[in-house]
Amino acid sequence: MKYIVVTGGVISGLGKGITASSIGKLLQARGLKVTAIKIDPYLNYDAGTMNPYQHGEVFVLDDGGEVDLDLGNYERFLDVNLSSDHNITTGKVYLTVIERERKGEYLGKTVQIIPHITEEIKRRIKKIAIETMADVVIIEVGGTVGDIESMPFLEAMRQLRMEEGEKNVFFVHTTLVPMVEVVGEQKTKPTQHSVKELRSLGIQPDMLVGRSKEPLTEETRRKISLFCDVPYEAVVSAPDASSIYEVPLIFEQQGVGEYIMGKMQLWGERPDWKEWRRYLHRLFNPKDEVTVAIVGKYVHLKDSYISHREAFTHVSSHLQVKVNLRWVDSEEVEEKGTDILQNVHAILIPGGFGIRGTEGKIMAAQYAREQGIPFLGVCFGFQMAVIEFARHVLGYEDAHSTELARTSHPVIDLLPEQRDIDKLGGTMRLGAHKVIIERGSKAYEIYKSEEIFERHRHRYEVNPEYIDEFEKNGLHFSGKDESGARMEIFELRGHPFFMGSQFHPEFKSRPLRPSPLHTALIKAALEYKNHR
Ligand code: GLN
Repeated sequence: MKYIVVTGGVISGLGKGITASSIGKLLQARGLKVTAIKIDPYLNYDAGTMNPYQHGEVFVLDDGGEVDLDLGNYERFLDVNLSSDHNITTGKVYLTVIERERKGEYLGKTVQIIPHITEEIKRRIKKIAIETMADVVIIEVGGTVGDIESMPFLEAMRQLRMEEGEKNVFFVHTTLVPMVEVVGEQKTKPTQHSVKELRSLGIQPDMLVGRSKEPLTEETRRKISLFCDVPYEAVVSAPDASSIYEVPLIFEQQGVGEYIMGKMQLWGERPDWKEWRRYLHRLFNPKDEVTVAIVGKYVHLKDSYISHREAFTHVSSHLQVKVNLRWVDSEEVEEKGTDILQNVHAILIPGGFGIRGTEGKIMAAQYAREQGIPFLGVCFGFQMAVIEFARHVLGYEDAHSTELARTSHPVIDLLPEQRDIDKLGGTMRLGAHKVIIERGSKAYEIYKSEEIFERHRHRYEVNPEYIDEFEKNGLHFSGKDESGARMEIFELRGHPFFMGSQFHPEFKSRPLRPSPLHTALIKAALEYKNHR
């Protein structure tokens, strides 16, 4: 088994996830089977109970795991489907150890961080290595070296190297190389300090990735090499890129792939980047452009909707159309009206929870419906559009979701199986479920299949009692679950493109296989822009 451990220093938010994904891509391009694990040193069991302002979007996997958004990056770069075991948190590790202790499995012993917690961390990692039969497992350690929370994990990584041997565990440390504008010089001190910190934990990095605005100068690389005791060739420059999908190629040019293969004694094919380069070429050479408004309440942190952003990037390359995203705060729509939505060619309302900003979302849906603007509502966005329709077309003024208000017209209501659930963690309708699409519908035209699997994360649904009425008035449900009782897709008759999905199509979007619904929305936006 081979492991590559990616750590980060100086500051968080350096793009460790992109470094990890890109290194994985380099090895995958050489014909190796690669998988990835994200370690999150927080005490939450999973990401499901945190709001997006904490760590960005909660990503959802096929198996229903609610995980860190970096798993989304791994899935997109490596084009693999991961399971929730690939996100190891302090919460998961401690819960296992404490449960074991209560069963008496450590009878007579004092249970301690070393060895019991570190053993459990390694057990989880090795289990994935075995189960996936990967040639290389990339392990990204979240947080910044020096945090109290990440200590047990780094200690476990140190032990892993001892146990598995030097050539089987490779340490990549990502740091910040700031540029002091006044003197125009790249500063290596923060990197030196962070490597010192890492060394004090018994880990000497094999490779350093320096994040900086401009490429690292030769002098900077030499200095880092000398002071951090890392070979010159292993000091990698990671300047800001126009697209994250460019990073594997930036690394490739510097020989990162060959270097790691050599050090880890791996053998593989010559990498072929033709497809990847074609993807980037199309992305960077758009023939047209459209503007899409994303109306949500977490718009001030772009990572809150990272999967939508990425899905639109994938579509952008696929259709060779630049997609400008206009992030619109739904509370602002509430206060100032729909004027901020003028001149957009499509509107998307993403998932969400809670009452704040909902009236703004409903206003945005109404605006799109009445003005004939292409619209896609996803999960909460789907629900908001249904409420809007009930209020303004069916005439139920107080129509609402029971998640949000008491109402005499609960057009969105709790899923029946949710009624007896009292715990909030990991209990939504989660993960990939089958959706049956009606032949001849717009949804069918888009998915070209009667059966699809898409990922879910919700507790509420369209109340079955109102379906007949919606249908009679033109809101047609063209996608349902297998039982036929749950509404999964709507399309509005007589509108050029007004659709919604109870599932989240953004989670399965991949660079070379963009989300069908996002693709259809952009096609409609082009149509709207050019042929209106
Ligand atoms: N809050 C809504 C529900 O639970 C929508 C969830 C979401 O958008 N992911 O059904």
